[in-house]
Amino acid sequence: MPVRTAHGVWAERDGVLVRLEDETGRVGYGEAAPIPKFGAGTVDEIEAACRELGASIDGASAAAMPANLRCLQNALAAARGTAPAAVHKYLGVAALLPAGRPAIDQVKEKAESGFRIFKWKVGVGDLAEELGWLDDVCAVLPPEGKLRLDANGAWDRRKAERWLERCAERPVEFVEQPCLAKAAEGAAIGRRVDDMLLGLAADYPTPIALDESVVGEGDIERWLGAGWPGIFVVKPSLLGDVPAALSRLATAKAELVFSSALETAVGARAALQAAFAYPGGRRPGAALPGGNGPSGSLPRALGFGVWPLFSDNRFNGPAAAPYLRSEDLARIDVEAAWNALS
Ligand code: MG
Repeated sequence: MPVRTAHGVWAERDGVLVRLEDETGRVGYGEAAPIPKFGAGTVDEIEAACRELGASIDGASAAAMPANLRCLQNALAAARGTAPAAVHKYLGVAALLPAGRPAIDQVKEKAESGFRIFKWKVGVGDLAEELGWLDDVCAVLPPEGKLRLDANGAWDRRKAERWLERCAERPVEFVEQPCLAKAAEGAAIGRRVDDMLLGLAADYPTPIALDESVVGEGDIERWLGAGWPGIFVVKPSLLGDVPAALSRLATAKAELVFSSALETAVGARAALQAAFAYPGGRRPGAALPGGNGPSGSLPRALGFGVWPLFSDNRFNGPAAAPYLRSEDLARIDVEAAWNALS
């Protein structure tokens, strides 16, 4: 199913599945699901690195991947390791809406199946037209419903300000990546856009989430150092050392939205396991009946309302439902996904 964002239309997903077996016969799976645009290597580079590793690997060579192969480091760690313990019984899931006007009908449909958080891709079409649809989308939200807007870095400062002004009195949970510097624009422009994002976060009441800004090596550290007051969108599949990054964010009490990198069920299971093990941020969230995490707060909804995504259903994670329970993760059949390729 093609996915349309401000980056363009995405019809195919390339990645590498990894299967490791130890001396005792224990088998583990991992997925290297790079998004080359995000600087995490290409499938060809990952395949070449796998061939170089040979038929057997040890922990040291699995962990010693260069930064541009962090997706492979991630996959090998997932295949070798055991899942971290869940601290949440269940987590909400955000429904992914199509870009543009079709979002309006989709909100109605998904609200009926129980979704309360809806993610709408913006910055795809004409600014005035999209701003007009914002009210139409908000008008069909269920009570307590909230909208996430994801611009994928499509706006300049002026456009971002117009949107953030408009969002202030509307049920918008956050605005994701309003602006973004392209790597080719150089470090000076990059710093200017970082300052712009910090300025927007300070000037408007609607929280801002960083996504594309935190996928590079060292990005999380840099934004924590800058005192980022907003949300971090974390795509665990794109991180190299997932436990290290998450423990750094947890120490900073950072508020995260765990999100899909449009990986298969193999990478998604590992990503969801990381989400269920993350203690939650500083937000004094409303508790669900019966409590949820150790603090009783409800972490923000998962950005995993993406399935079915692949035409071969064996690659899909659990069909998008308004909530995922920790026990649902054990039912994700990673072996079936592996077998679908063999
Ligand atoms: Mg995003």
